[in-house]
Amino acid sequence: MFQFDNSYARLPDRFFASVYPEPVKGPRLIKFNQELADALGVEADFSDPARLAAILAGNVVPPGASPIAMAYAGHQFGNFVPQLGDGRAILLGELVDREGRRRDIQLKGAGPTPFSRRGDGRAALGPVLREYIVSEAFAALGIPATRALAAVATGEPVYRERVEQGAVFVRVAASHVRVGTFQFFAARGDNDGVKLLADYVIDRHYPELGGAENPYLPLLQAVAGRQARLIARWMGIGFIHGVMNTDNMTISGETIDFGPCAFLDEYDPMKVFSSIDQMGRYAYRNQPGIGQWNIARLAECLLPLLDSDEDRAVDAANAVLKEFGERFQRQWIDVFRAKTGLSSAADGDGELIQALLAAMHAGEADFTLAFRRLADAAGGRDEAFLACFADPREAADWLSLWRERLAAEELPGEERVAAMRAVNPAVIPRNHRVEEALSAANYGDFSFFERLLEALENPFEERPEFADLMTPPKPEERVLRTFCGT
Ligand code: AMP
Ligand code: MG
Ligand code: MG
Repeated sequence: MFQFDNSYARLPDRFFASVYPEPVKGPRLIKFNQELADALGVEADFSDPARLAAILAGNVVPPGASPIAMAYAGHQFGNFVPQLGDGRAILLGELVDREGRRRDIQLKGAGPTPFSRRGDGRAALGPVLREYIVSEAFAALGIPATRALAAVATGEPVYRERVEQGAVFVRVAASHVRVGTFQFFAARGDNDGVKLLADYVIDRHYPELGGAENPYLPLLQAVAGRQARLIARWMGIGFIHGVMNTDNMTISGETIDFGPCAFLDEYDPMKVFSSIDQMGRYAYRNQPGIGQWNIARLAECLLPLLDSDEDRAVDAANAVLKEFGERFQRQWIDVFRAKTGLSSAADGDGELIQALLAAMHAGEADFTLAFRRLADAAGGRDEAFLACFADPREAADWLSLWRERLAAEELPGEERVAAMRAVNPAVIPRNHRVEEALSAANYGDFSFFERLLEALENPFEERPEFADLMTPPKPEERVLRTFCGT
């Protein structure tokens, strides 16, 4: 089924623990991503559904797999934990997809590993479906993220705050190397390990750097650049990751770990959903600053490789961190220029965009809908945009400023409307809709989960049959808190 070629398992033993998934009682396929399977060159044999479910649940380890749990460390909410590691995820193996990209196939929730510590190594149905929905929504939005190949019910209970149904999530990633993977070796003073890992990720994710005499500073710059861009794109869709610990930041630049994530309803820059983020460390607005903080932790690990002279290494690392801030700012303004229909750059665009966001904050405008309706305003119909605001006067004043700015644009109005609709989604995995899908699934009804996934395949289209998925939550529908609920 998988044509495995397992490069990570060929690294030294201390990089991982070999471990087999623990079989589950009643594996049953919930959802299989055929389109992704085709892109990966994965051939699933649906004539034997029991065997297919058994493979995807980890009951049967397919030929060529070399299952491992990866070692990593990480800062969790700012506190360093020297050993985390895959505690409930097992990397089955890697394959090279049809475009020649190496991808990890990982089973999340496939049983305990040496890194499990107190956990049971299992995953509950709800969080598995949430990850499925949000990662596939990201793919359709064109934002780098790990992917969902399958979700499988285990037929076993998992014990959380209450008894939940168990599930396994089959995750596909460019790799599972994290900032925390570097920290694992650096914290042990294992500089050879850091170097081996750096060479591994250059080969796998940044091959263009391979020829450089010292590729490690360019590596740090490249990772910083991808993360700056990624976080700017999160900001553009109102995404709040919720748990930006260093072990949840990839080296590849893909979004990973959709545990307590959420999307803004009404715009509030300080918005926090996660119940465990009591200090608001990972609030919407803090995400770029935290991204930079995480890159600083990566830089610390790489210091010995950056320069044999420690002062010069520190200077080089600091320059990368400064650049991160500048790159984020540039990416952010690019994202929001596109969202507001500006195809050119002019002085004052940043202030113009901030003024819109301030009006949205004051007017409690729904982030996604207000931008979507701004495209209508670009076509001359202001009502629906203004209706997004509790008090439309500030928004109306802003529209006048915006139109003055648009007068300097070369792009014809018709094209502007289309361009805005192509970057401002109509359908996102709204928190209350995700919850609705998960709670119906808990009662065995997957129809809303399926319908939501279908709508999210074309997030930039307003299809009347999905009108209910585009509207903000009613007050009683609003999700106030999200839970890791692993
Ligand atoms: P996360 O919060 O998903 O980023 O996970 C943080 C750490 O806790 C990782 O080392 C996970 O492998 C571990 N972990 C989370 N849930 C479980 C579980 N149910 N069993 C064992 N380890 C877990
Ligand atoms: Mg994690
Ligand atoms: Mg998690």
